[in-house]
Amino acid sequence: MSESDAPSGKPQSYTRKTLGESDEKPKTPEIYKCCDNPQITYLAPVNINIDERTIGSVDVWRCASCMKAFCEEKTLGIDSISDIVGMPRIEDDEKWVVIISKLQKGKDKWKLGKLKQNGMIKFETADEKIIDLKINDYKIVDDFHSSFLVLDHIHTAVEI
Ligand SMILES: [Zn+2]
Repeated sequence: MSESDAPSGKPQSYTRKTLGESDEKPKTPEIYKCCDNPQITYLAPVNINIDERTIGSVDVWRCASCMKAFCEEKTLGIDSISDIVGMPRIEDDEKWVVIISKLQKGKDKWKLGKLKQNGMIKFETADEKIIDLKINDYKIVDDFHSSFLVLDHIHTAVEI
């Protein structure tokens, strides 16, 4: 047993996020070195709707220097999920997508992800099973799952 065994209670976190506590725009997280001169600013949300009701959103930031986009998933009513310090990373050959499961309902029906143009992706389902999904041109091709590109839907609400 080490002294780092934390007692139950507050989860340990490195972030100082206050998202959801006010109506202000989300604060720009610590700068991620996407290029030599990062200038990352909040761009817009993409809302996720079910039956015309917004159940969550994806916040999109963009670097004005290299134009790389960064996304963060938010489920309404739940504190910011990611405990990642700084910006979530994305590789040059990946695009941000929302992956939709036709087998789930409500907040479990969607998830932010990153896809390469082609190949397979390991996808964790809402019941924590890892399955392989096929990608064709940055899109999930599967009987029970689909996807859309986040950056194609900036400032809009997408019905899933
Ligand atoms: Zn940049």
